[in-house]
Amino acid sequence: MPATRPIYLDHHATTPVDPRVVEQMLPYFTEHFGNAASRQHAFGWKADEAVERARHQVARLIGARAKEVVFTSGATEANTLAIRGALAARHEHGAHVVTVATEHKVVLDVCHTVAADGGRVTIVPVERDGRVDPVRVAAAIAPDTVLVSVMTANNEIGVIHPVSEVSTVCRARGVWLHTDGVQAAGHVPFDVEALGVDLASFSAHKMYGPKGVGALYVRRAPKVTIVPQTVGGGQEQGLRAGTLNVPGIVGFGAAAAIARDLIATEGPRVAALRDRLLAGLTRALEAVTVNGSRSARLPHNLHVSFAGVDGEALMTGLADHVAVSSGSACASGSREPSHVMTALGAGAVERWGALRFGLGRGTTAADIDAAVTHVAACVTRLRAMSPVGVGGSQ
Ligand SMILES: *Cc1c(COP(=O)(O)O)cnc(C)c1O
Repeated sequence: MPATRPIYLDHHATTPVDPRVVEQMLPYFTEHFGNAASRQHAFGWKADEAVERARHQVARLIGARAKEVVFTSGATEANTLAIRGALAARHEHGAHVVTVATEHKVVLDVCHTVAADGGRVTIVPVERDGRVDPVRVAAAIAPDTVLVSVMTANNEIGVIHPVSEVSTVCRARGVWLHTDGVQAAGHVPFDVEALGVDLASFSAHKMYGPKGVGALYVRRAPKVTIVPQTVGGGQEQGLRAGTLNVPGIVGFGAAAAIARDLIATEGPRVAALRDRLLAGLTRALEAVTVNGSRSARLPHNLHVSFAGVDGEALMTGLADHVAVSSGSACASGSREPSHVMTALGAGAVERWGALRFGLGRGTTAADIDAAVTHVAACVTRLRAMSPVGVGGSQ
């Protein structure tokens, strides 16, 4: 790392743990180390009590009942449990799943395993603004469809999908709806009833909680059944076997409670900083394109392309000053163009430098102004070196 820390603008990849969250977690590593499944003594009761408090806190953030929250090791596991679990539960009905081209890799890869196991998958494209059209989802639903999976907000371009409209379509056809709510929950209002979802996945470390803990919401009324993907301990109402990560769960609950308190003020604050960032970049540079809907978008996300700039070179040039990403943390490192950008129909995507900015609670106006200066200098330098030029890459 350079002498001064780079400005962190990669909050879609992960967020720092809130110190208040850490404080609440600490006693559950040492003093209250009990196994939440130990029903015979006070150590177990203490741990179980803390887990149930956290379950209420997470439920409250998402408008669910505590019994509908199943703790997992993160959203990767929650997504897997939702999709594979729902398909297994309704195998006599069919094995067709409908999802969207810009979903997180986890959802797309799990859907591919469904197809490999003899099921069917339909991948619905997105419109030019990065949102899925519910009419296209309706058209993809067939008599053997069991599940539709549409993320609430995209982790690369920050676009918010019309999930409640997709829900209307799903309910009319008797199909369950799952949403990957990781990027939305704790950042914008998220309510399972308002959205009309049957299953929803969450991750603590995307909302200032610890890594390695998440949750799956499983609707009770009308009842949604899923088949567990791990067995052996009967924890989490038999839906997810394995000793509970008590400190992690406590941290998730604390993070959910804090996020709920902050949404109304943090949302507008980061949105104003995001707008300042875009204004600064467009003032300093020509040929800056915003990817994805400008309005249906997370308040802390900006995703832009700079014509005539190599994305890899841009990232390398910025690394000492600004921590940003070209897209998903999971897909970066490969030189493949992002599947999200490809789905947007972004032309000649490999010749365009795209940057994802994810602002956070610690981001200040001074950070934004410094980031603008660094990005503008880097883009200008790379364009001067580019054999293609701004016009040639269109
Ligand atoms: C980070 C992320 C995941 C994976 O969550 P983990 O808890 O890290 O497994 C899934 N979906 C989306 C949209 C994400 O951003």
